[in-house]
Amino acid sequence: MSNISYNPYESAQAQFDRVAEQLNLNQGVRELLRQPMKEFHFTIPVKMDDGTTKVFKAFRVRHNDARGPAKGGIRFHPHETADTVRALSMWMTWKCAVVDIPLGGAKGGVICDPHNLSLAEQERLCRGYVRQLYGQLGPFSDVPAPDVMTNGQHMLWMLDEYETVSGARYPGMITGKPVGMGGSLGRTEATGYGVVYVLSELLKNEGIDIKATTASLQGFGNVGEYAARMYTELGGKILCVSCWNQKDKKSYTFKKEDGVNVPELASIKDSFGSIDVEKARSLGYDILPGDAWLSQDVDILIPAALENQITPAVFPQISKSVRVLCEAANGPTTPDCDPLIQERGLLLLPDFLCNAGGVTCSYFEQVQCNMNYFWSREEVLDKLKYTMTKAFAGVYDLAKSQNMYMRDAAYTIAINRVANTVKLRGWA
Ligand code: NAD
Repeated sequence: MSNISYNPYESAQAQFDRVAEQLNLNQGVRELLRQPMKEFHFTIPVKMDDGTTKVFKAFRVRHNDARGPAKGGIRFHPHETADTVRALSMWMTWKCAVVDIPLGGAKGGVICDPHNLSLAEQERLCRGYVRQLYGQLGPFSDVPAPDVMTNGQHMLWMLDEYETVSGARYPGMITGKPVGMGGSLGRTEATGYGVVYVLSELLKNEGIDIKATTASLQGFGNVGEYAARMYTELGGKILCVSCWNQKDKKSYTFKKEDGVNVPELASIKDSFGSIDVEKARSLGYDILPGDAWLSQDVDILIPAALENQITPAVFPQISKSVRVLCEAANGPTTPDCDPLIQERGLLLLPDFLCNAGGVTCSYFEQVQCNMNYFWSREEVLDKLKYTMTKAFAGVYDLAKSQNMYMRDAAYTIAINRVANTVKLRGWA
């Protein structure tokens, strides 16, 4: 790995500045959109099971809510930083805008490692998060959702705390809830399926048969697993999957020459998306170093773990066979890789378009909650596919017609939509 350390917020600002310049945005709009509108940095004291008190640092950042209530997940991660949350909140604004849903961008995070917390401690942490932010969250202001190492149970605890304090039911206050408790059918699969909806559109437009393709995947959590399920259902072959192993504090790549069996791997992973090394070995998987996923002779790379995984230092490891870079994670590629991607002529599905299925389905969940009327899984997935396909077509057509890099085309559409709303509201 490179010893340059990448700051995701600087990456997000660099990406924005480049397109703002191309769009010739006026100074006021530029200044407003290159930073968050509101930030909350706070502490959450949690009574631990052993009677001691631990104080956790937490963040909620609202980047922009010109187009609607701000939307964005809450991460639990030991390396969470204010700048990571700022970057992610900014990407949420562009993500909602590129798929044209009436929401703004926000993000939250808690510096913690839930592997080391009991369920009761996690519940107290979730409730503490909401108590500290009460008044700032709500169905018409800022709507959280799950993200890395948070899930439907965490969301339900947060909702319960919010409703207990407010004395009424607000199921649209948070999304990603369990089905039957205000959650939407299809939400669990939405991000991963959305990734493959846009991937298959890209392949179709480029005249590539998905059934003849192979892929290598980093991350086998919510996004990675469901992307792998849909991609293999459509006939693609996943050669290997890389994920983190908490026990050994390092990552491994699980490979099978004939292609991995996705449901089989899913059955031996824990709730954090870590695959059991010994069980995988006994099922005949080759166990390779964690970064081996990057250098495989495949057609498609799908980074679906964390940000800053593909840097110029590791870029040369990407096999010459790779044709598509499908950014399922947020910010998996550092901005200084953009010229390298273009030089190599890789087809790029930029992150905030590629993984927008999650927030799109969260939006559907919110709509259903606000109506208190729930749709079938087919209806949700049909609407998801329609929205993702339409957004892809907009970006792809702009990129083709203007001979534009796909990331710039996605940014151009998203930033234009937000900038126009900001101007129409009279903010800048
Ligand atoms: P998750 O916590 O469910 O899974 C993360 C996966 O990444 C796990 O399999 C973990 O083992 C793996 N991982 C972590 N560090 C790794 C490393 N160094 N090397 C290899 N693997 C590693 O998270 P998720 O919800 O699947 O999110 C993955 C990415 O997608 C994140 O960037 C997230 O912000 C983004 N995202 C998630 C959603 C969603 O709906 N969950 C929506 C949009 C974007």
